[in-house]
Amino acid sequence: MNRLASTSALNLARSLHDAGINDRAVLEAVAHTPREQFLDAALGHKAYENTALPIGQGQTISQPYMVARMTEILLQSKPNKVLEVGTGSGYQAAILAQLVPQLCTVERIKSLQIQARQRLKRLAIHNVAFKYGDGWQGWQSKGPYDAIMVTAAASSIPTALTEQLADGGVLVIPVGETSQQLVKVTRIGTRYVSEAIETVRFVPLINGELA
Ligand code: SAH
Repeated sequence: MNRLASTSALNLARSLHDAGINDRAVLEAVAHTPREQFLDAALGHKAYENTALPIGQGQTISQPYMVARMTEILLQSKPNKVLEVGTGSGYQAAILAQLVPQLCTVERIKSLQIQARQRLKRLAIHNVAFKYGDGWQGWQSKGPYDAIMVTAAASSIPTALTEQLADGGVLVIPVGETSQQLVKVTRIGTRYVSEAIETVRFVPLINGELA
């Protein structure tokens, strides 16, 4: 990436390191990604705070710590092809796209999807395929995936997602309603091994109808 790191983005990366993020590549991506471009101008002054912020339509850009943590977990398996469910602002997609060869991302709110696509284009990030659709069903025609990241909380683990994992693939997903756990599911042949990572708080993953 030839983008310059701003002082604010560098400081955010440093604070994530202090908060326990150790993957250098993830911290580099945070330092080189202008988070203010993923927010309305009125919220730009808060862009480098380690908090989730509203992006319209009742949705949020995730907390930078959570973005970094989920990315770090996902990169452990060195994935080539990754699926993100819940494009939202496109910030998580921009971080991931700098770290993996191929990213596919699905969003069920059309206006968010259009804005996210424009933002990544402006940043000259070209290895991302966007889909407007119900990510509860994954994106079957592009699969199987070495890794899948869901950035909204599912009431239960969608079987379409585990089915779209390649052998050895990893799904990182917040699960639960009032209380949510970040869960990592690894596919080993026809078996799935689940591991709870930490307590999290995400907007809900909608099952079914499009916005
Ligand atoms: N990764 C985003 C986080 C956005 S919040 C970011 O970096 O900004 C979660 C997003 O998931 C919302 O935009 C919401 O519309 C979307 N979402 C919820 N249910 C979905 C579904 N079934 N399919 C696709 N997207 C979904």
